[in-house]
Amino acid sequence: MNTICVVGASLAGLLTARALRAQGYRGRLVLVGDERHRPYDRPPLSKDFLRGDLAEADLALESEGEGEELDAEWRLGVAAVALDPGERRVELSDGTSVRADGIVIATGATARRLPAAGHLAGVHTLRTLDDARSLRADLEAGRRLVVIGGGFVGAEVAATARDLGLDVTLVESGPAPLARVVGVPMAEALAALHERRGVRLLSGTVVSGLTGEDRVDGVRLADGTHLPADVVVVGIGAVPAIGWLRGSGLDLGDGVLCDEAGGTSAPGIVAVGDCAAWFDPVQGRHHRIEHWTGARQRASVAAATLLSGGTARAEARRPTYIWSDQFDVKIQFIGHAADADTVSVEEGDPAEHSFLAVYRQGDRPVAVLGVNQVRLFTRWRRQLETAPVQVG
Ligand code: FAD
Repeated sequence: MNTICVVGASLAGLLTARALRAQGYRGRLVLVGDERHRPYDRPPLSKDFLRGDLAEADLALESEGEGEELDAEWRLGVAAVALDPGERRVELSDGTSVRADGIVIATGATARRLPAAGHLAGVHTLRTLDDARSLRADLEAGRRLVVIGGGFVGAEVAATARDLGLDVTLVESGPAPLARVVGVPMAEALAALHERRGVRLLSGTVVSGLTGEDRVDGVRLADGTHLPADVVVVGIGAVPAIGWLRGSGLDLGDGVLCDEAGGTSAPGIVAVGDCAAWFDPVQGRHHRIEHWTGARQRASVAAATLLSGGTARAEARRPTYIWSDQFDVKIQFIGHAADADTVSVEEGDPAEHSFLAVYRQGDRPVAVLGVNQVRLFTRWRRQLETAPVQVG
């Protein structure tokens, strides 16, 4: 290969570019990114950075001098707008194109928006550094925050805003925040943490709209209740950034559909990170992993798949690892809670915000949740990662 084009210049794109070089690729490497920023880390955007404890410079994903080591051409502030898989040509928003022998699709995801939000000031989603800057400014000026959606980003923003002293209401349509990932009983234990720290939690509650003229002044619930708000954060998930691939002929679903080593339906094109739905032989389906470690573990596999023409060793069998920091609590999770018949607390006490819970299918551990139990969790994580995989 003489030219490889990586589309999406963030975590998955950068790590795959690094892996390509580490695996011996010496040809031309072009990184295309629609943000103007050099690659930066997103997890702190809802935590330390939002709280004001971390500077922008500390978000950098590149170590000093790496630009030279990578020896890449950076096309930042330019979006890919179309792909011709046959020609392996990426069309860019500035009217130019890149013709490549290999293509890495790493365009991540974008925050899902609330259709009712319109263009009201004070309503935020959180995905990018620019989003975080603007939310931080609003949190500094505001007093009452309503967070819509109790996924990881919503729960983290709620915790950070409480730390900053705001009145926070978290509205979640499901039985408890994070229930989809950790299951209802453990989600309720985590919800208690938020309530004890002063977050007003409204679970099983549906939002019907936002109020305000130019600027938001509240959230209307389906039962008619009005929650006054100076700032609203919509945390209702993310959608894969694959709009630019529609019409390309590439197989798409909820993400770019890939085999279990990152290969797409077109030769010479791989996909990795939040935009990619790799085939998971354990679950028997394609799905995306929208977590930092997923991008990290899979970048080298995607690079190997591209360089070898599709014979790389698969990584899709590893259980998914997730972490989240809320207040002074580190939450770690590995596996699939939905596969479990039982869950039991095996160490610590949920009331103390320090416990470890094991999820089992029969006798077999299929997932583990650690809350401020880093050392014990690490042991369990190793066990789950090295356990023989049961393909069902
Ligand atoms: P992204 O980081 O989304 O990067 C994709 C890049 O491609 C972006 O720069 C995007 O602008 C660009 N792009 C999109 N379309 C185009 C186009 N057409 N042309 C060119 N460029 C394009 N994970 C955890 O495990 N733990 C956490 O605590 C955690 N916290 C998080 C907190 C926040 C606020 C957010 C937003 C995410 C968090 N995550 C966390 C998830 C983690 O950050 C993502 O899994 C990770 O960023 C995925 O990397 P990626 O490179 O696949 O996608």
